[in-house]
Amino acid sequence: MKNKKILAITALFLSACATPTASLATNSLEVDKTGYLFYQNEDHFLRADELSIKLLLPAKDYAVPTYLNLLPNAKREYRSGYHVGIDFSAPLNYPINAVYDGIVIRSNNMQQDVDIDTYNLFLETSSRLGKTPDDIYNFILLGKSVIIDHGYAITSKYRSITVYSHLSSIPESIKPGTMVKEGDIIGYSGNTGTSSGALQNDKGAHLHWEIFFDDANNRYFLGQNIPAELLKNNIDLLFK
Ligand SMILES: [Zn+2]
Repeated sequence: MKNKKILAITALFLSACATPTASLATNSLEVDKTGYLFYQNEDHFLRADELSIKLLLPAKDYAVPTYLNLLPNAKREYRSGYHVGIDFSAPLNYPINAVYDGIVIRSNNMQQDVDIDTYNLFLETSSRLGKTPDDIYNFILLGKSVIIDHGYAITSKYRSITVYSHLSSIPESIKPGTMVKEGDIIGYSGNTGTSSGALQNDKGAHLHWEIFFDDANNRYFLGQNIPAELLKNNIDLLFK
């Protein structure tokens, strides 16, 4: 831990020496973000030591991936052009569990994928708009999905929700208002809401998982403004 910190500080120092624009560095660049789950600015951040509890992995045997393209901040053609979740490599129909106790907000087992031409029209609209509107994201691209409200149980600093998407199916007992416990199965992994789902094939199954932290004015996502080299280690601190 200490060595990592020293390394990070050394790296910052070296890069500051190497670049003539170092004097333009903003405050946020000078902060050592080791151990931070997100860092917006000096007033809005969450450190792992501010968590009340640690979470179960949503797909039991699938750890947080190391590949940056599967982590938050990776480039994507949807949203505002970047990923705000983690893609866990769970295969088709793998049981997905609640990462902590909470209340189900959303569960849409009736969702059916649109055909691929319609799917592409939504992507074209998003591309023309320069972002994916929340309606297209939530109602089309997330596919069958479950959202759980954890209130202030994960951290007393922010209200938090978790999102489990592209599910192949959701048990009937998981409905809006259902109280779930950590470890309860809330669905099975799949590819709904993806282009493979629109093509009705079995390819590309995975669990796209998100956690958001809210205060009165903003919503923050795990990994927000955390540099790529710290991302995997910091995110691991969220889980048991
Ligand atoms: Zn994803």
